[in-house]
Amino acid sequence: MLSAAAAGCSSYDRSLTRQTPVVTSLVTTGYCKCKSCCGWKRNWYGRPVFAYGTLKGKPKKVGVTATGTRAGKGTIAADRSIFPFGTVMYIEGYGYGTVEDVGGAIKGQHIDLYFHSHQQAREWGKQSQEVRVWVPNR
Ligand SMILES: [Zn+2]
Repeated sequence: MLSAAAAGCSSYDRSLTRQTPVVTSLVTTGYCKCKSCCGWKRNWYGRPVFAYGTLKGKPKKVGVTATGTRAGKGTIAADRSIFPFGTVMYIEGYGYGTVEDVGGAIKGQHIDLYFHSHQQAREWGKQSQEVRVWVPNR
C-alpha cells in the first residue's frame, strides 16, 4: 500500500513514456540511503566516507545520487553500460522511476529501487519481475 500511495511522486520524462517500452525481466532490490545499503561509514572525523570499493575513504554525500540529484522515491540505481542515466522504468508495485544512480553490486540485469526507509527497502527485498523500460534517445 505504501508503494502504491507514493507511486507517481517522482519526476520522470513523460514524453519518453509515450514511446513503446522494452519489456525486460530484471531482478529488483530495495535500498535506502543508510550505511548498510549504500556502503558508507563515518571516518575519524565523523564525516561519511565510502566504506569499500574504488572510492573507499573518499567523502560520500549521503542521500545524493551519482548524477547529483537528491535520492528519493523513483530513484533507480542501475548498470550504466546497459541503462544510461535518464532511462525511465515502470516497476509493478513501485511505479515509475528514473535511472540516476549506480551501485557497486548493481551489474547486468539487476536494478536497485530507492525507498525512504530501510524498513521499506527490506520489505521490498529481492524480486524478479518484468519491467517496462524506456531508454532515452542519444
Ligand atoms: Zn538501508
